[in-house]
Formats: sequence, structure tokens, C-alpha cells
Amino acid sequence: MRSKNPIRSKDPIRSKNPIRFKDPIHSKDPVHSKDPVHSKNPMRSKKSIRFHSSVPALLILLAAGVMLSGYSDPDPESKLKRRAARIHAAALTVDSHTDTPLQLNREGFDFGRRNDPVESGSKIDLPRMNEGGMDGIWFAVFVGQSDRTPEGNRKAWQRAREITRAIHETVDRFPDDLELATRADDLKRIARKGKHAIYIGMENGYPIGNNPDLLDSCYAKGIRYMTLVHTKNNDICDSSNDTTEHGGLSPFGREVVSRMNDLGMMVDVSHASDDGFYNIIEQSRAPVIASHSCSRAICDNPRNMTDEMLLKLKENGGVIQMCIMSAYVKTPTPDPQRDSARREVVTKHGNYYKLDEKGKEAFLADWYAVDREFPEKLATVSDAVDHIDHMVQLIGIDHVGIGTDLDGGGGLADCYDVSQMGNITLELVRRGYTAREIKKIWGGNLTRVFKAVEAAAE
Ligand SMILES: [Zn+2]
Repeated sequence: MRSKNPIRSKDPIRSKNPIRFKDPIHSKDPVHSKDPVHSKNPMRSKKSIRFHSSVPALLILLAAGVMLSGYSDPDPESKLKRRAARIHAAALTVDSHTDTPLQLNREGFDFGRRNDPVESGSKIDLPRMNEGGMDGIWFAVFVGQSDRTPEGNRKAWQRAREITRAIHETVDRFPDDLELATRADDLKRIARKGKHAIYIGMENGYPIGNNPDLLDSCYAKGIRYMTLVHTKNNDICDSSNDTTEHGGLSPFGREVVSRMNDLGMMVDVSHASDDGFYNIIEQSRAPVIASHSCSRAICDNPRNMTDEMLLKLKENGGVIQMCIMSAYVKTPTPDPQRDSARREVVTKHGNYYKLDEKGKEAFLADWYAVDREFPEKLATVSDAVDHIDHMVQLIGIDHVGIGTDLDGGGGLADCYDVSQMGNITLELVRRGYTAREIKKIWGGNLTRVFKAVEAAAE
């Protein structure tokens, strides 16, 4: 669809984006800049994909030399990369879960500038979305669980409103590049204009406290899914990381699910306890999503879904969006130095979610410093695609997608920020997935579920 779209290639804003073309990695990468497919296709400038690898520079130069000499039979790896880049560019790509709003109001952060992921801790901004060929991204309005009191609920609602406002302001700041998306079809419509679709989800139902009417306000602000719970139980549902309180979904939670169905908001089962998951499926009259979850058979973590749950999800017609949070992808090897340095940050600053803005900033500065001093041994794209493989084999190609959790802890060794999303496509191509299958994974399936949710609404 993309390659036939004349509007995209004429978009003056994108093609003139100075940040993009000054990117030293881009301009110095001989393979990339001389890629014949890239240079002959004017559309490619809209959504050119980089494949970052650890291949030494010398090998890259050698590969470039082979290509420059007019060799008609380039090495299979280059061929594969070009095929993957074509598929990635042609697919409507959407990431169902990111915590970028946590960055939006941080001092020194500019969404329109290319931020260094290691220095700043930021994984998503406009230049890197372009590099990673992402058409759409869901921004999460995330409020961490705190006191379940009228005062706590009031503060959480206020915070949710502030974050939602920050998202709207960001979209308004870049009218030529971003557009707020509220319908399943908006992804296609907005991508056709050469812009990125920004969808809004809410992570943790805590801000609505015990007032279901607030769901209507969420909907009015453009929020189109809600992750019912986070890492602590709330009034709606038990968390996968907490004790059993309601035995799954609470009676109020059942009311919430029904109201979300009525409104046409997707119900997100990520972070719910296993019992909560089954209760949600039972309660919902529309398909549900797991906006960022992996397979427990591949990585044993309570946040991941068992095969039994996945089969139930298939029956429901829903979709699981694979998360690239390293700890959910591959069980981490213990790193006592890093763990104790992180504990020290928590001891020094206290509970992150209870801090004011200044306190949060100071906490994050120390937290990212630990990341720099003791880098996490991250799982790889290949480890992550093992999850996709397993889930596709179990429940079929129509029920699996991608929700990275970037800016919320997501990131792999070779897919560390949004600029590297093409590496996932490359691995899928390497494993024999067809273009049609990859399109389903990169957004087709999520869009189908969203449409079904819209259709089921009153
Ligand atoms: Zn999460």
C-alpha cells in the first residue's frame, strides 16, 4: 500500500528532516547508502530501515565493496536484509504499548530531536520513529499503583489527566508529523498522509478509582484501551505480581469490562493475574488484547501467558502483543552488583510512584546512571522471536502482534530503541515468515481486534 502512495514520497517535511540525514550512522553506513533497492526507490526515503548489527566495520566495508563492483549475485545476507527492509516498509507497523509519556515532561527531553538512548534513557522520539519505520505507536497513560483511598484515587485521576494532556500537546506540536488516532482505521488513514498515528491507551485502571463514569471521560479524551491493573492489585482486578485479593476480577471490575465494551475501548489483560485473565475473557463480549505480554512456556514469568491462556485468547478472537522487556523474554542471569546498585537508588529516593516530579527526575537520573555503569545483559531479537514462533505455532498467525514496552523497561541488545524495530522483521524473514504474515504481526491483527471491539460497542 505504502509504495503506491504518491503522497508519502512528496511529503516535504519528512524528506527534508535535517536530523535524519545528519545522523552519522546513516550517512556513514556504506551498505545502507549504497543499497541499490534503497537508492532507486524514491519511496524509501520515507521509511528506510536500518539494521543495526555488531558486524565489524571492516566486514561492512567488504560487503559494500562486493555490492559496488556490480556483482549480480550479492551475498545472501544482504539479499535477506533488503527483502526484510522492503517488507517492513510496506507493512503498516504499530506498537501497541510504550511508556513514552513518562519522558514527555522530563527536563531536557525533546520529542522532535534525536535523543541518545543510553545517555537520556529515552527510547522513542520522532527522528527515531522515522528510522525504525513505525507508522503508529500507542502511548500509555500510566499511573503507578498507590493508595486506594479517595485521596489516592483523586491524585491518580489528576495525574492521568496531566499525562493525557501532555500527549495531546505533543501531537499538537508536530502537526505535520503526528496525528491523534482514535479509530482502528486511523492507522492506515494517517500513514497515507506520511504521518505517524499516535494512539492513547491507559496502563492501570487505578485512576478511575471506583467510579465507572470516569471511563467515559477517558474515552472522550481519546483513550482506546485500558490495562485493567499493574503490578499491584487495584479495585478492578488482581495483579499477576501480587497476592490474591478478589480471586481475579472484582464485581466492580466486571462492571468496568462491560462499560469498556459499551464504549468501544479495548480491554487489556496484560498485568492481570491468571484468574483475572479468565474472568475478563468470561465477562467481555468483545475480543481482548494483551498489549505487552510474552509466552510463559518460553520464559517462566508470572507476567507472561501460559499456553492454556493463549488458547483461551485465540477462542476469544483476541491478540497477544509480544513485549520486548528483556526479563519477560529471557530469564535474567543474576547480576549482584547491578541489583544492589538499583536497590541503593530505591533506598535513597523511596518509592518512585510516590515521588513528586522533581523527586522522580532525581530518581531516574540515578537509575539510568546504574544502567550505564552496570549495563543489563539483555535478551536478543532472536530470543524474542522464539516467543512469536511458539505463540504462532500454538494459536496461529492471526493472534500475535508486537507491543514493545519501550520507555517502560522494554529493549533488547539488538533492538534497544524504536530506530531498530526493523531488526524484528529481519529475524522474522530469516525464519521464513512471509510478507503477509509479517503484516499481520506488525499491526494487522491488532487492527482486526480493534475493529471487532468497535463493532461490539453500543
Ligand atoms: Zn506494563
